[in-house]
Amino acid sequence: MIKGFALFCFLLFPFLLFAGQDTVIVRSGHIDPQGIFKLVYVPVEVPVGIKEIRIRESYTYGNVLNMGIYGPEGYEPGNTAGFRGWSGGAKNEFYINGSSASTGYIPGKVKAGTWNILIYPSNVIAKGLDWKLEITLSFGKTESLFQVSPAQKVVNHLPGWYRGDLHMHTLHSDGKRTQQELVNEAIDKKLDYIISTEHNTNSANQSWGKYDNDHLLIINGEEVTTTAYGHWNAIGINTGTYIDWRYAPEDHQVEKYIDLVHQDGGLAIINHPFYANLFLFDATPFDGIEIWNGSWDKDDERALHWWDEFLQHGKKKIAIGASDTHKNNPYDNNLGQPQTVVYAGSLSRNGILSGLKKGNVYLAASNNINLSFTASCNGKKSKTGEVLNTPAGQTITVSLTTSFIPDAELTLHSDQGIIARAASSEKPAQWTLKPGTARYIRIEIRAKNGTMLALTNPIWLNN
Ligand SMILES: [Zn+2]
Ligand SMILES: [Zn+2]
Repeated sequence: MIKGFALFCFLLFPFLLFAGQDTVIVRSGHIDPQGIFKLVYVPVEVPVGIKEIRIRESYTYGNVLNMGIYGPEGYEPGNTAGFRGWSGGAKNEFYINGSSASTGYIPGKVKAGTWNILIYPSNVIAKGLDWKLEITLSFGKTESLFQVSPAQKVVNHLPGWYRGDLHMHTLHSDGKRTQQELVNEAIDKKLDYIISTEHNTNSANQSWGKYDNDHLLIINGEEVTTTAYGHWNAIGINTGTYIDWRYAPEDHQVEKYIDLVHQDGGLAIINHPFYANLFLFDATPFDGIEIWNGSWDKDDERALHWWDEFLQHGKKKIAIGASDTHKNNPYDNNLGQPQTVVYAGSLSRNGILSGLKKGNVYLAASNNINLSFTASCNGKKSKTGEVLNTPAGQTITVSLTTSFIPDAELTLHSDQGIIARAASSEKPAQWTLKPGTARYIRIEIRAKNGTMLALTNPIWLNN
C-alpha cells in the first residue's frame, strides 16, 4: 500500500506542481568561425503534460543563426515524422501547440521525450557567435488538435495553356505575405496556378486547402535550401512529404531525396544556379533548371547558357521561369514575373506536373505574351518538348506566332547558336531548315536592350 502510494505521488506530484505553469530552460554556447555551416543539435527533455513549447533565440550581432526543431521521433536526416518546423534566419522566436504553431512550424501534440532544437550558423564573424536559447514549456492539456487541410487537386478538367509561378515564399519562411494575400494577388494577376515553395519546411502545405477557390490551383512544394551548396525546388510533393536538406554534395544523398519527389509524381528543379552561393550538386538527376528568376539579369543569362549546354549534349532539362517573390513591393521580385506557361490536359496538379515533364512549356515576362511555336516535316508537326523525325531530303518548316510584342527581336536558336532572326512586326515568323543542320530548336524573344521577354523549351529534331 505504501509502495503504491509512493508511486501515485511520483506520478501525480510533478503535474500538480506545474499544472498551469511554465517552466523555462536556458541553453547557451559559442560557435567559432570554423563552425559555419555545421549543424548543432540542442536536446531538451519534454516531460509528460506539456501543451506548448516555445523557443526564443538570441545571439551576438553580425552573425546569422538559423533555427528549426525535431520532436522525440528523431532528427536524423530523412526522418519526416520527427520534423516539426524550420524558420531559418527569419524568426527569433516560435511556438508549437496542439492546435496551432508559428508559421514555418507544424502544429500538433507536444509529446513527451527528447526534442532537439537545430541551430545552423550561416554567417559567423571573426570573434565568433555566442548563442542563447530560452525554452518555455507550458503545462496543461491539449484541448483540440490541428487538422491538415490539403489543397484541392483539380480546378477544372479543360485542356489548355495554363500560366503560373513555380517559386514563392510567404510568412511560412522569409516571405512577407500571408497565404491569403498571396492567393488574392495570384487571382488578381490572372495566374492559373501557383507552386508553394517555402525554405526547408512543408508547413504551408498543411493548410492550403483553406484557400481553395474556383480560379487558382495551388500545388505543394518546398525550396530545399542548403545555404552552403545551393537551392532546389521539390515541386508537386504530397502534403505529408518533407524533403530534407541536411547533406552535402559529397554525401551523395541528393539522389535519394529527388527519388522521394518523383515517387510523389513531382519534379526536382535547380533554382537560380548562379545567384550568391553557386549550385554545387551534380545536376544530372534534376529534371529542370530555373533559368529565369525574377527580373532578367546577368545571373539568368549565365543560367540560360548553362541550360543550353545541357541541350547541346542531348540532355533534356525543362527550363522554367519563376518570380521567387517574397513580398509585395514594386522593387522586389513580383509574383508572376516571369511566369511558366504550360500546356496541360486539365488545370489540376497531375495535369500541370505532367505538362511540365513533357516540356510543352514556355516562359514569359508577363501575362500579355502568348506564343505558339511548332516545327513540321514530312507531314508531321511537333511542339516544344517533342521529337520531330526529319528524314534526309525533306524540309523542316518552323513557325512562330506571338501576341503583339512591340520592339522585340525574335531569334531561333539551335545547338549551332542563333540560326535565324525576325523582328516582332513580321508575324507569324516562318523559317525553313534542312534536316541534319540542328539537333534542337528553340525561341528567344528579347527587347531591344537585351532583356528577355519570352523563351521556349526546345523542339528536338531527330535525323
Ligand atoms: Zn532560393
Ligand atoms: Zn526562393
